[in-house]
Amino acid sequence: VEDLITPQVPIRYTQHLINGRFVDAASGKTFPAYDPRTGEVIANVAEGDAEDINRAVSAARKAFDEGPWPKMSAYERSRILLRFADLVEKHNDELAALETWNNGKPYEQAAKSEVPLFVRLLHYYAGWADKIHGLTVPADGDYHVQTLHEPIGVAGQIIPWNFPLIMFAWKVGPALACGNTIVLKTAEQTPLTALFVAKLFHEAGLPEGVLNIVSGYGPTAGAALASHMDVDKIGKRVKGYSLHRVLYLSTDWSESHGNLFHKLAFTGSTDTGKVVLELAARSNLKPVTLELGGKSPFIVFDDADVDKAVELAHFALFFNQGQCCCAGSRTFVHERVYDEFLEKSKKRALRRVVGDPFKKGVEQGPQIDGEQFEKVLRYIKSGIESNATLECGGDRLGSKGFFIQPTVFSNVQDDMLIAQDEIFGPVQSILKFKDTDEVIERANRTRYGLAAGVFTKNVDTANKLMRALRAGTVWINCFDVFDAAIPFGGYKMSGIGREKGIYSLHNYLQVKAVVTPLKNPAW
Ligand code: NAD
Repeated sequence: VEDLITPQVPIRYTQHLINGRFVDAASGKTFPAYDPRTGEVIANVAEGDAEDINRAVSAARKAFDEGPWPKMSAYERSRILLRFADLVEKHNDELAALETWNNGKPYEQAAKSEVPLFVRLLHYYAGWADKIHGLTVPADGDYHVQTLHEPIGVAGQIIPWNFPLIMFAWKVGPALACGNTIVLKTAEQTPLTALFVAKLFHEAGLPEGVLNIVSGYGPTAGAALASHMDVDKIGKRVKGYSLHRVLYLSTDWSESHGNLFHKLAFTGSTDTGKVVLELAARSNLKPVTLELGGKSPFIVFDDADVDKAVELAHFALFFNQGQCCCAGSRTFVHERVYDEFLEKSKKRALRRVVGDPFKKGVEQGPQIDGEQFEKVLRYIKSGIESNATLECGGDRLGSKGFFIQPTVFSNVQDDMLIAQDEIFGPVQSILKFKDTDEVIERANRTRYGLAAGVFTKNVDTANKLMRALRAGTVWINCFDVFDAAIPFGGYKMSGIGREKGIYSLHNYLQVKAVVTPLKNPAW
């Protein structure tokens, strides 16, 4: 392995981006951003709280109400989105390096897959901007009825740390294509790349106030965004925000008139999703979309090419240090190929190259932070204690940073914690099954429903499973295919709504019905 690049890319932006300008937090506070390879601080970043969220929402509200963004032609908006995507493409390597430095993901993955996916998604939504339109509706009676598809207003967006750039693109692309303005809160672990790309967006001609980025923690900045109500009036009241205050606000809504803050899009854990939904309901009933956790099955049938199945199941789980909401974290294997599959999966995990994510050929970097690192090790302990068989791994790697050995458990039973909870780390759980109906029932026996993988050569089996599995995505003989046009989201407690594709546009549009009599009214 050799060094690909030197990781010390300059960190240019650490303040909030509000109304087109970089500004310090109102409190003057900062918080540290880390390098997960070492746990060392790489930057101190403005720490947002309710006051910063207020300032950002005010800017977004003004940009929405006074324009030019929602009022400019859709073609002009599309051109700005395209120019932005091109600028991101130009900065591909620098952005990828910053993403790796702050997140720990392999540089090659960031540079060759994630930044390009970001660009592709922006191109996709730039293409939609001038193709959004309503319908004429055939109604009874002498009426001309049409629908107008209008932007909702100010969108609040909260994103996680596992794919900082891609999550940014999934949220910002469709919201801006539809003409909304945005306040986005990044995850406290990974604030840096969003600030970088938001600056590029302004270079591409985005008017000030259209996209505002606030860095900070969930219970302060995030909760203030989720419970925000009315920019002009409540803005001042939210000062000194607390959960108690939110309850108070909820009884006080009638005082807020005029412009309501209208949309919240959240990606993160299911537990936080519940909190956010409650805050939205208790404040102003803003519609919420949620992309949450998963415990996705990856099902290998006995007709499968075992070598290929092993490789795909390995990728489905270990990709991105196992920190994927849709990770194939329950590997179900037919009993006829189980032993061979297990032996080969163990060998593959032992071959996995773990190390400095800036080095060529490295497949796995460190976990994001000490908290996730400890959590994954606790789940490994729980697997051992519940008598699953530890085939390999099971411990930290090295003594510095947050590296974990690729870990494989066999003999995993459905009721074990490691088969039920989202581990969010490099821990593969292999379960044995006998027949198709049994595996469908067991695969669906989870509170989650984000994704599923099926590996078979039998078209009847594939057809049966694609319909029977209760998941937002079913990948047949493939996994983690993330084209911009493919909708993504969860059944059950994996979320509400869909992102990407045409479906995401619905999250950011209001439908207005306009009814006009064709003849003179009878009055
Ligand atoms: P998290 O829920 O702790 O944090 C996600 C975001 O929510 C962060 O920005 C955080 O600051 C914010 N937040 C935390 N508490 C908040 C509160 N009280 N109010 C408002 N915002 C708050 O999740 P995480 O640990 O950072 O991310 C991992 C989780 O995200 C996993 O469970 C994973 O499955 C999920 N995820 C889902 C998808 C998807 O598309 N379904 C994608 C990526 C990650």
